Amino acid sequence: MKSESLVEVYTSMFQIVGEFTTHRVMFAAGEKIGMGMVKNRELNDPKIFMEVLKDHMERERLGEISYEMVQKKSASASEYPVELIVRIFNSPLTQLPGSGKPQCSFLRGILRGAYSEFKQWKDVSVTEVKCIAANGDHCEFEIKQGPGNY
Ligand SMILES: [Zn+2]
Repeated sequence: MKSESLVEVYTSMFQIVGEFTTHRVMFAAGEKIGMGMVKNRELNDPKIFMEVLKDHMERERLGEISYEMVQKKSASASEYPVELIVRIFNSPLTQLPGSGKPQCSFLRGILRGAYSEFKQWKDVSVTEVKCIAANGDHCEFEIKQGPGNY
């Protein structure tokens, strides 16, 4: 999908069903698309997984992507550590009328779908900690094991 079309889908949905529902729907759609990007592929190495995902997303013009494998300490012992940080530059979704909050639900969904498919985990949490639409010069996502946020 062209990025202009994606922005049109969002804008129309904002008008009809509101922002909250739009983000939920686009997150769910992204999740399925993300799963499809890595499904039935032998991607044992996280670096190969990320390269495949990056290729797919860049081909779909969803932004320029860089990533970092990390073992970031969690705030409490009951929380899983962040495993992967994905940075997306030029996300098309930052053209949306901003409400000062992270906007990239569709991209977050793709990351969640792809990572849960890769790991074969049901519980993957992806948080957009920086977004051009809110407080950053790029969009940044933290990925870890844990209960999914919609
Ligand atoms: Zn963003």
